[in-house]
Amino acid sequence: MVFCDTEEEFDWSKPQNRDNRSTTHMKAMPAADRRLRDLGAHSIYLVDHPIATDPASIDILGPLQEAGTCGIGTQLHPWVNPPFEEEVNRTNSFAGNLPPALERAKLTNLTETIASSFGRRPVMYRAGRYGVGANTAGILSNLGYEVDVSVRARFDYSDEKGPNFSAVKPIPYRIGGGGMLEVPLSSAYLGALRGLGPAFFPLTGKLPIVRGALARSGLLNRVSLTPEGFPLGEALPALERLLDEGHQVISISYHSPSIEPGHTPFVRTQSDLDVFYTWWEGILGLLARRGVKAATIEDVVEAGRKATPLHA
Ligand SMILES: [Zn+2]
Repeated sequence: MVFCDTEEEFDWSKPQNRDNRSTTHMKAMPAADRRLRDLGAHSIYLVDHPIATDPASIDILGPLQEAGTCGIGTQLHPWVNPPFEEEVNRTNSFAGNLPPALERAKLTNLTETIASSFGRRPVMYRAGRYGVGANTAGILSNLGYEVDVSVRARFDYSDEKGPNFSAVKPIPYRIGGGGMLEVPLSSAYLGALRGLGPAFFPLTGKLPIVRGALARSGLLNRVSLTPEGFPLGEALPALERLLDEGHQVISISYHSPSIEPGHTPFVRTQSDLDVFYTWWEGILGLLARRGVKAATIEDVVEAGRKATPLHA
């Protein structure tokens, strides 16, 4: 699954701000979509409120969905999503930390907005900043969602008052035994000590120097499948490892503003953008060689309904 967190531009080094709603990078999306599609991807655009209310973005993504060449799901950035009742701060940037009624009201507003802008009710959800909370699954179920893709396996955001996924493996599961399917973002441990990763890596969180030294020495590194911050030289062996371990669902992700230089820390220049596309060529090329096919939202919903074993 290839996910695009489709969202407004903002300065990644600054706190969240309600005024950031610009989506000018979307003019580069038709070419970007085409490029990834030609490499075998079927993009799933997880759109947030600024995108779902932007006529240009609706004109770009709507016809692609109609043509069946992309999927559209939901992404909640609570700080730019009405109703605006909470203070904008780091804790509240994780929607799962909001009072249940406010998280529900924002999600309801966004879901209805996407349904009316794109002509179809979304069934797949990602919380911005991976910010799911205790009430999220119940709210999603009530709104008709079937799949959550908010969990970033093996990552911990509790330092910032966000969720802790360090014990989660990158394998789909049912949330709380209920009907909702969770498909976590793929990540792998690499290095000579990789067998110790799940137990040991989270302990190094308070000691970034130890974590950096382990990665540089090749002993232990945690690699996510994203072109943002994980070079091809790390992502390719991580993907190979996941495939060799028998994972049947591979989840890859990036943020839409990265398709134009200047909006994210990962793509500042044209040459960064060239590296970005080289990453996709490498990753999607390996998937093609290993016979892995792109999955649509419908494929995942269907597999979840049939309770097909989703991993080896
Ligand atoms: Zn986001």
